[in-house]
Amino acid sequence: MNHRHDVIVVGAGQAGLAMGYFLARQGHNFTILEAAEEPAAAWRERWDSLKLFTPARYDALPGLAFPGDPWDYPGRDDVVTYLTDYARHFELPVEFNSRVRAIRKTNSTYLIELDDRTYETDQVVVATGPFQVPFVPPIAKRLGPAVLQLHSTAYRKPQDIGEGRVLLVGGGNTGFQIAEELSGSHEVHLSVGTRQMPLPQRILGRDLFWYLDKTGLIRKTTASRIGRRMSQKDTLIGSRPRALTRRHGVKLHPRAAGAEGATVTFDDGTKLNIRTVIWSTGFRPDYSWIDLPVFGEKGRVNHQRGVTDSPGLYFLGLSWQHTRGSALLGWVKDDAEHIAQQINAFRPSAPAGAPALEGRTT
Ligand SMILES: Cc1cc2nc3c(=O)[nH]c(=O)nc-3n(C[C@H](O)[C@H](O)[C@H](O)COP(=O)(O)OP(=O)(O)OC[C@H]3O[C@@H](n4cnc5c(N)ncnc54)[C@H](O)[C@@H]3O)c2cc1C
Repeated sequence: MNHRHDVIVVGAGQAGLAMGYFLARQGHNFTILEAAEEPAAAWRERWDSLKLFTPARYDALPGLAFPGDPWDYPGRDDVVTYLTDYARHFELPVEFNSRVRAIRKTNSTYLIELDDRTYETDQVVVATGPFQVPFVPPIAKRLGPAVLQLHSTAYRKPQDIGEGRVLLVGGGNTGFQIAEELSGSHEVHLSVGTRQMPLPQRILGRDLFWYLDKTGLIRKTTASRIGRRMSQKDTLIGSRPRALTRRHGVKLHPRAAGAEGATVTFDDGTKLNIRTVIWSTGFRPDYSWIDLPVFGEKGRVNHQRGVTDSPGLYFLGLSWQHTRGSALLGWVKDDAEHIAQQINAFRPSAPAGAPALEGRTT
């Protein structure tokens, strides 16, 4: 027999946990299904020395302050500890080792299929993260076996990287930060395909996010002109190309256009022999396991602030789901609360011939 809950949340990262907080407060019968064996799985896949670009004051989920000095920048392990404590503190019903293999719909009921069991529910929140499948460009296949290749999700610390020249491909926050760290022990090169807008971490003694919060920019929605403009340009927080070159001796290159053996060719025709390449080239969405017609161009979710056209199906934690803060620790609660309101107001459509349900108490 299938298990049944009123609401099922898929994913127990910060988005799934924030969702759980509101569902618990509203008294719903729900469960959170998490593929990994412990909380904060995505954070555990990030490098050892990672420091947040958001100070602790802006890293709290609803109902529980992030510990420590509010203006300190927590490390990766601080986030892992906080999220683990959060789930425990609110006694959220997280089922680990529970990867959802498929979501389908029969009549008005969603079937949530795992390897060993199936759940039925009226409403489901997909909170599987803005970053899913690590992306590596096709030129990677042309590099020979003498070159060590890894995606940034597999990088932990400089001591794991053998001797010889290292090339980082990808000029986002991840590429810049790993390049800087490795420059202390290796000859490092960084290939930047698309320049991102550098923003200082601190301005006139205050943190960048203090300004974004006070001016309201962090909450500008994609419906506003400024929100739309902001969403089109990725930002590089606290790193500057010139500083990386001058202070850390990292050599910058344009887009990596080709590869052969141990040699990478860049857009400007220059070539570089390398021993290691770290692909900091981001991620791609993968919703191939959701068998519902809610996806558009390039597999992106069609939604209004996380609410899809399939009644009772929601997404949470997408990049720019509603605002810049949507995929950040300190602001995901705004969208989670919005979805909780939709969930509360939801009435399942009655099967043909049956009277409509009235006055549900959930
Ligand atoms: C390098 C880096 C630095 C960052 N720094 C900051 C920062 O300083 N401040 C900040 O606020 N944000 C930062 N972020 C952004 C953001 O906070 C994270 O990306 C965050 O992890 C997103 O949370 P989430 O809950 O939406 O997704 P995730 O943390 O990715 O969680 C999704 C969960 O879903 C699970 N899952 C996936 N598929 C399934 C399935 N089919 N069935 C069951 N479970 C599944 C996964 O195991 C995972 O636990 C950073 C991101 C990166 C990559």
